[in-house]
Amino acid sequence: MNRPILPGSTIGVLGSGQLGRMLAIAARRMGYRVHTLSPEEDTPTGQVADAEITAHYEDLDAIRAFARGVDVVTFEFENVSTDAAHAAAELVPVRPSAAALHVTQQRAREKAFLADRGFPVTAFAKVHTVDELAVALGIVGLPAIIKTAAFGYDGKGQHRIDRVEDAEGMWSLVGHQGAILERLVDFSHELSVVAARGLDGRIAHFGVLENVHRHHILDVTISPARVPSTTAADAVRLTGGILEALDYVGVLCVEFFLARDGRLLVNEVAPRPHNSGHFTFDACVTSQFEQQVRAVCGLPLGSTMQMRPAAMANLLGELWVNGEPNWAAALATPEVKLHLYGKADARPGRKMGHLTALADTPDDALAKVLAARALL
Ligand code: AMP
Repeated sequence: MNRPILPGSTIGVLGSGQLGRMLAIAARRMGYRVHTLSPEEDTPTGQVADAEITAHYEDLDAIRAFARGVDVVTFEFENVSTDAAHAAAELVPVRPSAAALHVTQQRAREKAFLADRGFPVTAFAKVHTVDELAVALGIVGLPAIIKTAAFGYDGKGQHRIDRVEDAEGMWSLVGHQGAILERLVDFSHELSVVAARGLDGRIAHFGVLENVHRHHILDVTISPARVPSTTAADAVRLTGGILEALDYVGVLCVEFFLARDGRLLVNEVAPRPHNSGHFTFDACVTSQFEQQVRAVCGLPLGSTMQMRPAAMANLLGELWVNGEPNWAAALATPEVKLHLYGKADARPGRKMGHLTALADTPDDALAKVLAARALL
């Protein structure tokens, strides 16, 4: 079971978005084959994979057939059912494990897992009814955010509550499903740590990243983060603790709030490579995607050394409102790299690609990437 899965083998990816695409590019560069399974066709991952299988994640026969055709299964987003992960695990290694997926794919379960083990999180409560919400508001305090407990990402299914009398209206918006109420954090920075744990338990991280969100969607990442070294050390230490607590194999991202009162709080854990780690493709000796290949294949983790300060800016669908962006203008900027995900339909809010800029300092990289994006 623990023998390394060597180049020439086939990696199975559940999910077919841009994370799978960049994973597939890294894997193919190292001589692996890649198969992807998702309900869609002509997907970002499928376009660069050896085989694209179209099936629902609930179709456990299709998942088993998929697993029989590969040497290891991983996933590129966390909304795959744990039943699917278990079905695949009957046949081949699944990394990270179904157990890690189970914890991290549901906000309420994840927050409870972290809080129970002493990781710092904002005040929260699980709520199942509007009456529980009223009680929870009294415990958690205002302002608060209500989030659907499961299957949320990029701020989808999240609503701010400023007044007790708004609770009922907000409850109708989250759709009467299980939810989590969180105290709003007054933060100075949003940070993340992308790290990997190998089969041998070794951990490697890409340092602390500084993230700026717009409308709950990541907009810009700056690396290294412009925060005190003690804060950075705390974030790395907490991330290592979370990797251990989950007995994790693979790449994961821990998102943090640095509160204005100095507390560092874990916001959420993504059990996969992460948007805030995209800069590693251009700026680091080993990218987060190659690291994922190495970890899930049981190979030694690669050096995470960052060669140049970097900043990444997402390109969302609204950039296309006036037609195709002016790629040539952005690419005329030295040390700016373009990544597009092969998505045909540029809907507002949809992640279509990103730019990475390298420079002498994080501030310069940020200015450069924003200037390049403005030229689009
Ligand atoms: P999430 O999907 O939970 O990561 O939330 C997306 C974004 O919403 C975060 O990156 C924050 O910008 C904001 N957000 C979520 N939860 C909180 C919170 N408890 N306090 C303040 N901002 C939050």
